[in-house]
Amino acid sequence: MSLAKIIAIVNQKGGVGKTTTAINVSSALGILKQKVLLIDTDPKANATSGLGILTKNINNSILNLYNGDKATRDCIIETCSPNLKIIPGSVGLSEIAVNLKNLNINSLRIALAEIKNEFDYIIIDCSPSLGYLTLNSLVASDAVIIPIQCEYFALNSLNNLMSSIESVKTSFNSKLSIEGILVTMCDKKGRHNKKILDDLEVGFRDQIFNTIIKRNISLSEAPRFGTSVHYYNTKSQGAIDYLNLSSEIIKNKSCMKTKLISKKIPKIINNEKLVLPHKLKVRNLDAYKAYSTNDDNYDKLKGLNKKEVVYYIGLMYNDIHSDVWMYRITKKKNLFKKKYLYLYFNNNRVKQIETKRFKFG
Ligand code: ADP
Ligand code: MG
Repeated sequence: MSLAKIIAIVNQKGGVGKTTTAINVSSALGILKQKVLLIDTDPKANATSGLGILTKNINNSILNLYNGDKATRDCIIETCSPNLKIIPGSVGLSEIAVNLKNLNINSLRIALAEIKNEFDYIIIDCSPSLGYLTLNSLVASDAVIIPIQCEYFALNSLNNLMSSIESVKTSFNSKLSIEGILVTMCDKKGRHNKKILDDLEVGFRDQIFNTIIKRNISLSEAPRFGTSVHYYNTKSQGAIDYLNLSSEIIKNKSCMKTKLISKKIPKIINNEKLVLPHKLKVRNLDAYKAYSTNDDNYDKLKGLNKKEVVYYIGLMYNDIHSDVWMYRITKKKNLFKKKYLYLYFNNNRVKQIETKRFKFG
């Protein structure tokens, strides 16, 4: 196996779609049969929770990696998504970021060298700053993806970011390249957006991905269910956009030097079938309720594995590693009157199902 391509998702601005891109590009690359490791370096750990992993319930995180108290391989955990593993984020990371003496500018690069031959892609979600942690990520990376929100002010900060990347390149990491500028949250019909895209074309023509990520509600809803958009709403525009982007990234890797200049969004993905079970045609608990008129119908969940349950009804309040998952069925105000669906797993499969009122313990 060749060495992984390490790609950092960077922009010093918050709310531009870094984490959304990190989660869904990783998931899409995995669906396209690439072995992927996602690394969450943002102390907010949104990429981690967005994949259904609650940081309070796990012992491995990026913190162990930076502290050097665990081997890199021991910081990695499985996710529900095919071919996708993660080094979870940690709120403790913000302390490390201020305590610079623990940090060597090469920490992440050295840690990743140990496992680089086990993956095709390593995707790093960065925090919205160009501080020491992001610098560490840039030193460790082969390339960067720069998500920019489709709005006028995005262009102002893009020049700054480009020159910061250029100086990292000259001082620390000469192989660092721009994988692409990714336009996110675009509403293509708006004239305003069209003007921004035209301006971008002037300055950065060869660096913009052909794929543009459109504004799509499923992309913002999926993290609440602890899953990528591909398992939350398989046929949504967001799912398709991130699959297209990922196929562009795969193309770039196989012919490293020749960038696609064609304006057409690649349609390759239309031929890709998602390998998902299709026994039930529901995709969240509300849909499931509308479809099932009595409790017995939840029995259809029996025997499904965790991945399938996440696909069908999401991952409401649950830690993916626990063996009891609960879902609220009724919306009554009084906590004790609310009814819940409990799923009990054994060997990763739903063994028992109960609907009952909330109970402590
Ligand atoms: P960042 O990591 O750069 O801070 P996020 O990925 O967390 O940005 O995105 C900021 C907000 O915008 C989140 O609420 C996210 O759900 C939403 N969002 C991101 N991309 C899209 C999109 N294409 N369509 C709709 N909402 C989006
Ligand atoms: Mg983020």
